[in-house]
Amino acid sequence: MAQNGSIRSRCRPNILVTGTPGTGKTTTSSALAEATHLRHLNVGDLVREKNLHDGWDPELESYLINEDLVCDELEDLMEEGGNIVDYHGCDFFPERWFDRVVVLQTDNTVLYDRLSRRGYTGSKLSNNIECEIFQVLLQEARESYPEDIVMALKSDTIEDITRNVTSLTDWARSWHPAS
Ligand code: ADP
Ligand code: MN
Repeated sequence: MAQNGSIRSRCRPNILVTGTPGTGKTTTSSALAEATHLRHLNVGDLVREKNLHDGWDPELESYLINEDLVCDELEDLMEEGGNIVDYHGCDFFPERWFDRVVVLQTDNTVLYDRLSRRGYTGSKLSNNIECEIFQVLLQEARESYPEDIVMALKSDTIEDITRNVTSLTDWARSWHPAS
């Protein structure tokens, strides 16, 4: 499908791995990058390293991401293809960038323990648990991308990660720039 008047020319796919913090995006993405030799782009790290933000929000206890700067930074790589983008948001990336959007989901008691272990407390912890309970990222993905490329994957256990990485690797291997 031609989008924005241009023909999609990448010869390797772009995958977005999204989900509430703690659902396993970075663990899954790095294992997937190893298996497929696609490039893992951790957007949170990139925002910090390249200052793609408008400062620190003490209330949210996180950087205020500058979405325009992030998209400018990623555009050339995304056009080239072969990327795994790892971020806990998905509505500000151009729709045409992705061939597959994966939303990781974790049982909320499991997630609570993971985030506590990461040092999250108070409203930062409860906001993220609520985000998971209300499936905020799945909704955001469904509103932002064609439904046939969005998939929710369970990420409660190590076995889930192994299975998810295997199936995404198979998908990436058989992907070709059709249509
Ligand atoms: P995210 O990038 O989504 O915030 P991480 O990949 O950093 O999540 O994972 C957060 C923590 O939870 C890590 O310690 C990781 O080992 C663990 N973890 C993530 N997903 C799973 C899973 N499916 N099974 C077991 N542990 C997991
Ligand atoms: Mn992460």
